[in-house]
Amino acid sequence: MDFNLTEEQEAVFEMALGLGEKFISPHAKSWESQETIPKDLWQTLGEYGLGGINTSIDYGGSSLKRVDSVLIFEALSMACPSVAAFLSIHNMCSWMIDTFGSVELKEKYLEKTNEMSCIMSYCLTEPGSGSDAAAMATKAVKLNDRWEMTGTKSFISGGGYSDSYIVMCKTDEGISSIIVDEDSPGLSFGGLEDKMGWRAQPTRQVQMDNCRVPLENLLGIQGKGFTYAMSGLDGGRLNIAACSLGGAQQAFNQTLAYMNERKAFGKRLDEFQVLQFRIADIETDLQVARNFLRYAAWKMDEGHSDKTKFCAMAKRYVTDVCWKVANDCLQLHGGYGYLADYGIEKTVRDLRVHQILEGTNEIMRMVVFRELKKEQSG
Ligand SMILES: Cc1cc2nc3c(=O)[nH]c(=O)nc-3n(C[C@H](O)[C@H](O)[C@H](O)COP(=O)(O)OP(=O)(O)OC[C@H]3O[C@@H](n4cnc5c(N)ncnc54)[C@H](O)[C@@H]3O)c2cc1C
Repeated sequence: MDFNLTEEQEAVFEMALGLGEKFISPHAKSWESQETIPKDLWQTLGEYGLGGINTSIDYGGSSLKRVDSVLIFEALSMACPSVAAFLSIHNMCSWMIDTFGSVELKEKYLEKTNEMSCIMSYCLTEPGSGSDAAAMATKAVKLNDRWEMTGTKSFISGGGYSDSYIVMCKTDEGISSIIVDEDSPGLSFGGLEDKMGWRAQPTRQVQMDNCRVPLENLLGIQGKGFTYAMSGLDGGRLNIAACSLGGAQQAFNQTLAYMNERKAFGKRLDEFQVLQFRIADIETDLQVARNFLRYAAWKMDEGHSDKTKFCAMAKRYVTDVCWKVANDCLQLHGGYGYLADYGIEKTVRDLRVHQILEGTNEIMRMVVFRELKKEQSG
């Protein structure tokens, strides 16, 4: 793998950076206090091909590689990690439809998800099953003309806001993935969760009470839903890690500028050698995280047999390192880092959840160990 970006990759990064600066940065703070993101933003980003970054061109997708995705999410997160991460979940869903869906399902959804007139959420977690996701209780019963679904999905990013939901549920033949549209009879939503970070994007429970869904909304093959959900998470984990990287890099850029101005004991902060060493360590940590993340994305693009292990390692490592970087940046700002006006405390709050969702960082270690043992036993 060549660690230097090609001209095309540089252009992809610059495009996303420009979109973030123009359409997201100026509003990030007010969207956080309003606890929602205006839907026009998605349509704008859809016009630039960000609704189907990795979906095939047949239905208007951008058909980019995973290395491109991590560039896009790193760049967008420099504007707001919460907004960028929401887009990453939508992209995980559109990729699942593109990869596993029937032609009919692709025709029904992909054009709309690619242009982002249809926004999608991913529903795996339940009140009684998070890390042990396969222990889910949500059930779908197949009747002559429809599925009837009953159960509750918790912590759903975009719950009550998105247009359609990919719901993992138990069926006769094992866990399946079924797409539930927002107007399905029997579908309702819980109250808005009051969260530490990611406040711009709404999180609610998705509740199904004999919820009626057309038979054609089954994604792929019955009983394969858990495999689809986990495959989606490989790419999702890369993108979430990229969101941590962009947020941390932005906090670091601001910190360097601040330390060049702020004085204590008659010297600029960046004249103290102990703080210069902190800066050197942060720069090293970010470079290592970035290169490892791009390497994991390349592994996925190449379809390497150890791609799942690399996605889990990258998610665990990058989200841990970048949260620490953001927290260090807050410390280096002193009391000002704690004030909302400086933007650093928001990044610390937004990045914290990346260590928890799409598989906690403890679960990432379980995945790495499991994959390693598989390799050893041949
Ligand atoms: C803001 C936010 C948005 C989210 N968005 C979504 C979404 O859109 N869709 C969705 O499906 N889910 C979503 N989630 C849910 C998220 O994926 C889960 O919270 C996460 O998987 C952990 O599950 P849990 O909260 O039930 O924790 P638990 O599984 O109860 O874990 C509690 C603690 O125990 C640890 N633990 C559990 N099992 C083990 C083990 N075997 N060995 C070692 N440690 C273990 C965990 O790492 C954790 O530290 C979101 C969560 C948040 C906070």
